[in-house]
Amino acid sequence: MPAEPALVDPFGRAITYLRVSVTDRCDFRCVYCMAENMTFLPKADVLSMEELDRLCTAFVALGVRKLRLTGGEPLVRRGIMTLFGSLSRHLSAGALDELTLTTNGSQLSKYAQELAHYGVRRINVSLDTLDADKFRTITRWGDLSKVLAGIDAAQAAGLQVKINAVALKGVNEDELPRLLEWAHGNGMELTLIEVMPLGEIGAGRLEQYLPLSMVRARLAQRFTLTDSDHRSGGPARYVDVRETGGRLGFITPLTHNFCESCNRVRVTCTGTLYMCLGQEDAADLRAPLRASAANDLLRAAIQEAISRKPKGHDFIIDRRHRRPALSRHMSVTGG
Ligand code: SAM
Repeated sequence: MPAEPALVDPFGRAITYLRVSVTDRCDFRCVYCMAENMTFLPKADVLSMEELDRLCTAFVALGVRKLRLTGGEPLVRRGIMTLFGSLSRHLSAGALDELTLTTNGSQLSKYAQELAHYGVRRINVSLDTLDADKFRTITRWGDLSKVLAGIDAAQAAGLQVKINAVALKGVNEDELPRLLEWAHGNGMELTLIEVMPLGEIGAGRLEQYLPLSMVRARLAQRFTLTDSDHRSGGPARYVDVRETGGRLGFITPLTHNFCESCNRVRVTCTGTLYMCLGQEDAADLRAPLRASAANDLLRAAIQEAISRKPKGHDFIIDRRHRRPALSRHMSVTGG
């Protein structure tokens, strides 16, 4: 580990966590995430596996200790296992503490063993409901049984699974106690997420928005929730659930700010670096990456961008114009 973190932003936050969206494509069309007919990027715009490896490696050399691949759906990117395979050398070398991914679980039956082989230990699986019909309605294209089989395969391969569920008004709100019992009963943490106003999706955000303060109050009628000191370094705040013996997280971007301890940045599959999930400012890393085989330009571009990392964000759902706060979709930066 470098004696001094090499990437420190103007507010003294060390950047040690990189999330990389490896594709904008997905085999689901979750209603809060994408419109049904999305236009995807031309292949030439998307970084190759080699370029993604170089990019991640440059960040690791600058002190990033945790790498999360996301998307779109990372496991639908062709050849993605070669990237996990090549990045695993940083785990073996002790330069990286964690290599992980966020997935919708649809391809886990196929890849769980290989992921474990490459040193992935914990994964996040997004799952909003255990009701097959509702699952189809939410994801438009997804098949719940495949995801559940994928989760089984991941656990059988020794991967620790955390479930992330978006709380959706009138959709899964009644089911959250069941989801909690199911997740904890099967040895998985659960984190609930508020809908964030990202991207035009062709449906009203206000209709989907369910404040987690309300969810928590309702869960507290049934479960004993005790605030936990546990911190993952991310935006989630946790409670311990006495009845299940498990941990429940809440990510509340709209009702809470979680920026003071932000240690992360995000890169899209075209090499655009977003210094904050909730702001538009970004830096192009693809041009310096493609400009030379050496990494000097790339490193300089990363350092310059980090010097512009904003203090925080202020998501709002624009009630009057019913517009998203940011025009890009979650599938661009992967959450
Ligand atoms: N395909 C992968 C998956 O399903 O986890 C990774 C990408 S997906 C964009 C990452 C996470 O963002 C998922 O948990 C998804 O539910 C969540 N998400 C997408 N759009 C969102 C939104 N507008 N508000 C809150 N969460 C969102």
